[in-house]
Amino acid sequence: MSKMKVDRHHTVPRTRGGDDSDIVMWDKKFHASFHMIFLNMTPREQHEFLDEINVPGEVWNAKRLCETRNRIMRGKGR
Ligand SMILES: [Zn+2]
Repeated sequence: MSKMKVDRHHTVPRTRGGDDSDIVMWDKKFHASFHMIFLNMTPREQHEFLDEINVPGEVWNAKRLCETRNRIMRGKGR
């Protein structure tokens, strides 16, 4: 049986004000996939992003998704 490979994930990125009190241990592949989507968003930004893109009937191409994510990370809401 292979041993699960885990990473330390900061729920609030260190570069965004997080510290070692907010570490969770995540499967390494899941962790990499998470950051491909959420980059180093704070949990609040992740929720804002998901709320904004979960609109039934809307079409989101990669450009629009990335622009929305970047706008939220710059602190500019809708
Ligand atoms: Zn992480």
